[in-house]
Amino acid sequence: MSERAAPFHCPYCGDEDLRPSEAGHGSWECHSCRRAFQLKFLGLLSTTNGGTAHESRD
Ligand SMILES: [Zn+2]
Repeated sequence: MSERAAPFHCPYCGDEDLRPSEAGHGSWECHSCRRAFQLKFLGLLSTTNGGTAHESRD
């Protein structure tokens, strides 16, 4: 699997003019709204419990 996660649209303005930032790995710059942001992989969602983190049991 590739470690690169390339966004297709800017999450702030929706433009496609995204370029890799020199700020670090996973950093991107939107040249349309001049915003810099970072993508981070948090982990995989659970497929067994639907992803409910706060499950209450009686
Ligand atoms: Zn943007």
